[in-house]
Amino acid sequence: MLEVLTLEEARDRLLNSLGPIANQESLDVGGALGRILAEDITAPISLPPFENSAMDGYAVSTQDPVFSGPAPYRLKLVAKSYAGRPWTGTLTRGAVRIFTGAAVPRGADSIVLQEDVQLNDGEIEFTVKPAHMRHIRRAGSDVVAGDRLLVRGTRLRAFELGWLAACGIESVRVYARPRVGLFATGDELREPGSVLEFGQIYESNRLALHSLAQELPVEIRDLGILPDDKETLTRVLEEAASAYDALITSGGVSVGETDHVRDVVDALGTIDFWRVAIKPGKPFAVGRIGECLFMGLPGNPASAVVTFLLLAAPALTRLSGGAARPPLEVEARLGETVVPPRGREEFQRGSCARDAQGLWVNPTGSQDSNRIGSFRDANCLIRLAPGTASLEPGTLVPVLPFDGLLKGGG
Ligand code: AMP
Ligand code: MG
Repeated sequence: MLEVLTLEEARDRLLNSLGPIANQESLDVGGALGRILAEDITAPISLPPFENSAMDGYAVSTQDPVFSGPAPYRLKLVAKSYAGRPWTGTLTRGAVRIFTGAAVPRGADSIVLQEDVQLNDGEIEFTVKPAHMRHIRRAGSDVVAGDRLLVRGTRLRAFELGWLAACGIESVRVYARPRVGLFATGDELREPGSVLEFGQIYESNRLALHSLAQELPVEIRDLGILPDDKETLTRVLEEAASAYDALITSGGVSVGETDHVRDVVDALGTIDFWRVAIKPGKPFAVGRIGECLFMGLPGNPASAVVTFLLLAAPALTRLSGGAARPPLEVEARLGETVVPPRGREEFQRGSCARDAQGLWVNPTGSQDSNRIGSFRDANCLIRLAPGTASLEPGTLVPVLPFDGLLKGGG
């Protein structure tokens, strides 16, 4: 139980113990945004389904005898082909007026751009010799019927949904959303809107974590505030564990006299690990109560959010059927002097932007773990290895954009 894991060890251990929950459902693609595919998808048709024009212009045949003679070439207009209203004849000589997306007539094998053409009296004239298949999109050049489009475990973003629609797919099998119960713990916590007595504070972790979880394909339920009382914790957590796929708590997992959450979970089930060598967020407990995954986040608001982003979010993604790949990490130059942490890796909240020299990042003020305000103007975490020498402005440091932390993991 004294084991302290690195972030990567904790992540691997947590993710390797998890797979998708068993339930699946069939959904219209229109309602599947953010959900995770429970099946491989094979293209039912080719894209494009037929040969069509990539430009507005004139469809011609490069075999037309006119091209054996010298430029300029003069061709008679014989028909028009519109997107959705194709000309169904066969071209032997002359040109067919054609628009982007319109079917290329049989016999034609090149499109002459309308801006290269002079039109007079039912005839077009141009000087550039057309090349075979110029400005023509071949049938199946994007997707061939039978191609594997998407694999199980893919998160359906706007791009994937657009692609499915382009292939005429109406519904997909996805994993059901895991049911996640969320608690805060602490005798000092009160709901916003109530009057604080001396020694009390407003509870803020549930709203922040609940809001973050909206970005994931889970059904998260706010289950309220629990007191620092062993009996109550035992009764409530045991009951909740039978109704939810995962439980997330904040607070009460450290080593204080009133920190009972870990002991309670250990008694009801198991604790796999509870210490991770990161700042903020050292106490982060992972365990099980029966089949239910338990994740106990630290109570300090910045620690709760950072551990949610780094550990709980990928775990919930995995439970939802996603791959939970490691998040995007890029390098940026520090804009100011930063004192590195002692002993354990630190994840400071940062504001990252680009100028002509590249990416720069600055910490967003005081990084105390109780300060949820350290997220103001932040768009990333700055990953700082333990060290002794100050990091001077211009030093390259790894940066994890929030977007990648929540959505990158697929
Ligand atoms: P704990 O992890 O329970 O020792 O709590 C650490 C610190 O975070 C204490 O100062 C708590 O008052 C504070 N805290 C714990 N839970 C919350 C919460 N849900 N909202 C705001 N502050 C909290
Ligand atoms: Mg507490």
